[in-house]
Amino acid sequence: MRYCFVLIAFLLAACSSAGQAKTAMESTIDRKAAALEAAEAWAERQPHWVEPFEPFRIIGNLYYVGTQGLAVYLITDYIGHAISGAEYAAVVIDGGMAGNEQIIIDNIAKLGFDIKDVVYLLNTHAHFDHSGGLAKLKTASNAELTAAEGDVSALEGGFYLGFEQQTEYFAPPVTVDKSFKNDEDLLIFPIGNAALTGVVTPGHSRGCTSWRLSIEDNGEEHEVLIFCSATVALNSLVPKQYDGIVGDYRYTFETTKEWKPDVFLANHPEVFYMKETREKQKAGDPLAFVNRGAFQRYIRAKERAFERALVEQQAAASDQE
Ligand SMILES: [Zn+2]
Repeated sequence: MRYCFVLIAFLLAACSSAGQAKTAMESTIDRKAAALEAAEAWAERQPHWVEPFEPFRIIGNLYYVGTQGLAVYLITDYIGHAISGAEYAAVVIDGGMAGNEQIIIDNIAKLGFDIKDVVYLLNTHAHFDHSGGLAKLKTASNAELTAAEGDVSALEGGFYLGFEQQTEYFAPPVTVDKSFKNDEDLLIFPIGNAALTGVVTPGHSRGCTSWRLSIEDNGEEHEVLIFCSATVALNSLVPKQYDGIVGDYRYTFETTKEWKPDVFLANHPEVFYMKETREKQKAGDPLAFVNRGAFQRYIRAKERAFERALVEQQAAASDQE
């Protein structure tokens, strides 16, 4: 870890002198090129992230359009001609990794929709494996990108917050059209009488956003949660990946205490056994993705893992003093 920070300091120093002569446009291009190179390396390490997957309807108007290893969601609804003259409008949540875009666009088409019908582009969090495809999807759709304030700098800068100079975590920079604050629920998109709501569940990233919606399927309402993440993963708690990270994780564990969705989904499909569940659905169970209780089991395990990681990182830091 020490070595990492020395390296970052060195890179920062090197970049600040070399970067002075560059315009903002050139540095965006550099970042994009570096991000695409990084994505190719990730594709070799995590081949399932770039492996296509047959798109399918999860429940109601909610569809899976991601790859085998990175989830991307499409929500559609008829809303008349209120938005951009479209007969129906669609929302896409997440962009997968850079390089996933054509798979996502093709998946949307296979379901009978069009990327151009997407009017809102949303994100669970600004890490390259979920935000890397947003820039191209935005160009292809002309959709408006809305994101939590805490993730705007990382989305627009194309970096992982706290690892600003580590090229392996770069994502193509993307402009955010609208942002919202951590303490505001964001009503985005009417679906029948309900709405898609963004709730910031920070920690894994500063603007990590979980998406909640009520979906009607066959006359029955189902509460759906597309959860951001609460894993520690690459994040450093000591020293802090970003200011306030420890409090943010705890806020998320507290906020989600009462959440008991009927359908629990996430941006890494393994979290909710996407492939196995899809097989069950194909075998004739239309409510295969109803998994009440799964989220509470998941989030409580993540809370214990977080507290363990914090103790371990604190101990490691005091050993070095
Ligand atoms: Zn992440």
